[in-house]
Amino acid sequence: MKKRSFGRKILQGLYNYFVFFLTSAFLVSCTTMLFVNILANTLGIELTSDNIQTAAKLTFLNVILLSVLYTVIDTVRRKLTTEKVTKKISTAAQEIVKGDFDVRIPKISSFSADDNYNVIIDCFNTMAAELRGVETLRADFIANVSHEMKTPLSVIQNYGTLLQNPELPEEKRILYAKAITDASRRLADMMTNVLKLSRLENQQIYPNLTRFDLGEQLCESLLGYESIWERKQIEIETDIAEDVFIFADAELLLLVWNNLFSNAFKFTEDGGKVTVSLTADERYATVRITDTGCGMSAEVGAHIFEKFYQGDTSRATQGNGLGLALVKRVIDIMQGEIGVESAVGVGTAFTVRIGRAEHEPEENR
Ligand code: ADP
Repeated sequence: MKKRSFGRKILQGLYNYFVFFLTSAFLVSCTTMLFVNILANTLGIELTSDNIQTAAKLTFLNVILLSVLYTVIDTVRRKLTTEKVTKKISTAAQEIVKGDFDVRIPKISSFSADDNYNVIIDCFNTMAAELRGVETLRADFIANVSHEMKTPLSVIQNYGTLLQNPELPEEKRILYAKAITDASRRLADMMTNVLKLSRLENQQIYPNLTRFDLGEQLCESLLGYESIWERKQIEIETDIAEDVFIFADAELLLLVWNNLFSNAFKFTEDGGKVTVSLTADERYATVRITDTGCGMSAEVGAHIFEKFYQGDTSRATQGNGLGLALVKRVIDIMQGEIGVESAVGVGTAFTVRIGRAEHEPEENR
């Protein structure tokens, strides 16, 4: 391998020399012939073959000297300005291939090399930083999923062991079996959310656009929580504009309302109130879901759209911190906006604004 690269270097050197030799030979021969011809004509001198032979030898020596000089200068220039920089870049690229995303290339002084290299170096450093970010997210995600899986799995394991006791009273058997069912439901819910989120993030879900009545969809989603609001005696207030048709992916949007309602009912104490409003203009539909629940601090509010983030740990077992991450992803895909206003002990209001029908083809109207 080394021998081959040494041989290649010699060949490259000879090639470089040959290029300069030919260039110098051509230039020197042309200028000398021109000079000698003009001189002889002006002075009226008759040139003998001896004169020409001596001049030819001197010229040939000159050409060899000049081309050696050019080759040396060019080799040094290449070493300093090109090879040094490309070696730095290729070494860093090899580090990336090995999985070290912390590698960065320092900028080179623009006097010593072509400034275009700095453009390449900038792009390289940005790429390495992006890869580091993606890798950290991936590692965090795996750590979070594994951590979240552990709790329900150990519940299932413990109660499963207890159930093996043949003398277990009937009511305890039912209690333990219920704990196992709840834990496995939590696990299944989490896996469903993880899969949905990963498909949404990898853009494997292609929005299936249809025209539908947004108000109807909101009512349908709200009714899904009827048993909870009746049990918790939560008052419901609705102010839903009629005939607000939008052109969007209904299934994805339903995910948004389900998550927002589920949180509103989860974080609102018995006897509280949940309000839903829908307003619209020509271009946008705006949905506002307000509750009189526990609310959240600004610190919690800043993180709620992050995966696995749970601000209220007392209700941690009732969720997995993925709901709002999913909501945010769906809203981003729909190029909409989501905002939250909240005050601890007062309540929370989520506002979602989505485009109505910009991409709606005529035939769907
Ligand atoms: P989960 O509800 O499973 O914990 P989410 O992603 O849906 O996860 O919500 C993240 C966090 O945002 C919650 O743990 C909670 O702290 C906060 N949150 C979301 N909705 C509300 C709400 N309506 N009232 C108070 N806090 C909320």
